[in-house]
Amino acid sequence: MLGFLFLINTIQPEGLVFQGFVVGFQDFVTKHMTTFDPNCRRCPRLASFLDEVKAANPDYFCRPVPPFGVNEPRLLIVGLAPGLNGANRTGRPFTGDYAGTLLYSTLHRFGFATSGEPLDAAGRANPALQLTACRITNAVKCLPPGNKPETAEVVACNGYLKSELEALPRGTVVLALGNVAHQSVLRALGLKVKDYAFAHAARHRLPGGTTLYDSYHCSRYNTQTRRLTEAMFHAVFATIKEELSCPTST
Ligand code: SF4
Repeated sequence: MLGFLFLINTIQPEGLVFQGFVVGFQDFVTKHMTTFDPNCRRCPRLASFLDEVKAANPDYFCRPVPPFGVNEPRLLIVGLAPGLNGANRTGRPFTGDYAGTLLYSTLHRFGFATSGEPLDAAGRANPALQLTACRITNAVKCLPPGNKPETAEVVACNGYLKSELEALPRGTVVLALGNVAHQSVLRALGLKVKDYAFAHAARHRLPGGTTLYDSYHCSRYNTQTRRLTEAMFHAVFATIKEELSCPTST
């Protein structure tokens, strides 16, 4: 096993064969990995990038960003990955960039957060903001260059998401923000992507009692281009809120 780990950290994939090997091996690791490691450096590209960003910004968090919220949520929100000046700076998912401004104001509006202000006066994660019956995580826990994780990195991090999903109480609603999060949830649950197509505001009843909702990611790009409006985002949360107040819905 250690030999495999050494090999995976030293090879430089240059083609599909190596890439396939990496993905296949990381699939193996994923199935045997459970507990979130706050010092994880399994993805060499991301670990190096975090080192670079930390050197340029010593006060930034620059480590795998842990989930935030209650331990037994009724709603689990899954995003893509930490943003450079958001979660990667503050150490809290969706905290410090535009996506978090919209997400937390929406969570507050629908009663899932004690405050709609993700930052305090000093620009740090607001200690007065606590989630209610809600938890937020990312499909990839480390900042990726250009906000674009590679497939192998999404796969490598999937074991952490798998353990988070397995810990959920039965009947929990999962909201995937964007297609990468959607596919990561399905992968973590051992389900086929082709059986559950991503679409904004889609609702998927999954085996095991989990309900998966989809939304376009609340990124600045998506909102500036009007792919996702605040009203569209609120409508998804209104539906989820209604579902959670009616536990017998199917
Ligand atoms: S993205 Fe996930 S698996 Fe990769 S180094 Fe970060 S925490 Fe580890």
